[in-house]
Amino acid sequence: MKSVIVYNYLMFLSQPHRRYNPLINEWVLVSPQRTKRPWQGKYEKIQKEKKLIYDPSCYMCPGNIRANREKNPRYKNTFVFRNDFPPIVDTGQKESIINNSGILQAAAIKGECRVVCFSPRHDLTLSEMTDDQIQDVILTWISQIEEFKHKYNWVQIFENKGELMGCSNPHPHCQIWASNFIPNEVSKEDIQQKKYFEKNDSVLLVDYVKKELDKKERVVTENYSWIVVVPFWAIWPYETLLLPKTNRSQFTLISAEEKRELAEITKNLLLSYDRLFNISMPYSMGWHFAPFNVKNNGYWQLHAHYYPPLLRSATVKKFMVGYEMLAQPQRDITPEQAASELRKYIKS
Ligand code: ZN
Repeated sequence: MKSVIVYNYLMFLSQPHRRYNPLINEWVLVSPQRTKRPWQGKYEKIQKEKKLIYDPSCYMCPGNIRANREKNPRYKNTFVFRNDFPPIVDTGQKESIINNSGILQAAAIKGECRVVCFSPRHDLTLSEMTDDQIQDVILTWISQIEEFKHKYNWVQIFENKGELMGCSNPHPHCQIWASNFIPNEVSKEDIQQKKYFEKNDSVLLVDYVKKELDKKERVVTENYSWIVVVPFWAIWPYETLLLPKTNRSQFTLISAEEKRELAEITKNLLLSYDRLFNISMPYSMGWHFAPFNVKNNGYWQLHAHYYPPLLRSATVKKFMVGYEMLAQPQRDITPEQAASELRKYIKS
């Protein structure tokens, strides 16, 4: 009987099937047989021009003037400033729902948006910074969360890197959007992790990591406290999930040693991304942890999602269109193949 199960599992690696994402209660279609098809789609241009260390026209470089006429200090490490065109602001209105039939709903929001420059150097990326410099970025993230957690219910830290992701300014930076509401993705993960905990009396992503450490077929890299996997349910070809091996519901709960190790594993992951297609890998990444209004949040596990948009080379991008917009996400190479590719570029 057992051999039949093993046989079916091997078939999964080469035949179309669907996989369940327990974190958001959704399915992804996996079609590994399609990797053999010739590519007739769009090829992206590679930008390989030399970047400047300092750009006088960049509003993030030290000493430059921003849109609101404020002058940036001559900062040495990280620099946080208020987003001059914030998508979320405090309008002073009370939360309200328009139309109580439930069909047309709108609610007042309040929040704040900030930008974090990772480095005064205009030309660097996180992967090119030292472990200590990356640790400064991590400390800045945590101090921002500490500051916002008493005022709002959620803080989304995210980085959009590269022109392919619609990021027009190469100066290394991320954004922080704090809000009184819990955004959709976080809300789905909250519901799912809570359900799992109530049913199993254990933490979903901690149990998941144990399974990944068992066979290691989707592990990209790990150290004592952290692990990076291409999740079993990944949608983007080289999507990864970075998370602690033990239960940490909040970013603010990680130890000094865990911060140091997080800097180290982040650099390793980003270098492997850059080496994969021999370009500075574009991606969107962001952190998820227990929202601040959740009581008894032990069922939550801190994690970062990395979503690079590239499919099979530096010039072939994955598009989320057609079936993906109308039905559900679909991928070609399996998460196991993607993890094995990325592993090749992890420095030993
Ligand atoms: Zn998440």
